[in-house]
Amino acid sequence: MKITFLGTSGSTISINRNNPSILIDSTLLMDVGEGATRSLKKLNIDFHSIKRILISHTHLDHIGGIGSLIWSMWIDYNRNEPLEIFCPIEGENIIISFLRITGTPFERLPFELVFKELEGGEKFDCIQTVKTNHPLPCIAYRINKKSSCCYSGDTSPSEKIAQLSKKCDVLIHEAVFPNDMVDLAHKLGHSTPYDAGVIAKKADVKKLVLFHYANIFEGNEKKLIEQAKTSFDGEILVAKDLWSINL
Ligand SMILES: [Zn+2]
Repeated sequence: MKITFLGTSGSTISINRNNPSILIDSTLLMDVGEGATRSLKKLNIDFHSIKRILISHTHLDHIGGIGSLIWSMWIDYNRNEPLEIFCPIEGENIIISFLRITGTPFERLPFELVFKELEGGEKFDCIQTVKTNHPLPCIAYRINKKSSCCYSGDTSPSEKIAQLSKKCDVLIHEAVFPNDMVDLAHKLGHSTPYDAGVIAKKADVKKLVLFHYANIFEGNEKKLIEQAKTSFDGEILVAKDLWSINL
């Protein structure tokens, strides 16, 4: 499995980082934050190869790039294969409305968007899901191929995510707030690096990748690792845009 980070930023993009988006091999996308399409182009990914998108939830930082991606598939790649979009309950309506009000001409779009809404708790193909702790429906995903990875989506610390990611090779966990803002983090349905480490330890994962971290840590990633080390003594990595892990 090859995991490529197309965007890793906090709630806002920065000079160096796009909003959250992860590419698995070249077939599956998890979240499509603003800037994901440009990252795919920089990496020379053939847009025809992307078969399925897994959306964690419909906050702007996780779906803000979906219009750009769909327009690019249509205009730059002449796509005519259907595109599967998996999302939480109510996600189809929100994503279609977002595309419609921003002018996507569905009658001229040469490929079909095939939606499937998830509640959390599903198992299909190589994918398992759970519902996370966030103010609106949000899904964490585990992908099991020859190796395994789990993506937390946005969440405060979650026992369900610890179970979902049990013994997986890579846990990609959000760390939106620094350790000293833990109360606000939990109130808003988010985690700190310490929290991500607690889940990694409970799940006994091989590697923890800190993801969707605050832009104040940019250039100071060591600090982020130090904060997660207080709860997890395994391998800790910090995701950066255009960076890949081969498993
Ligand atoms: Zn987010």
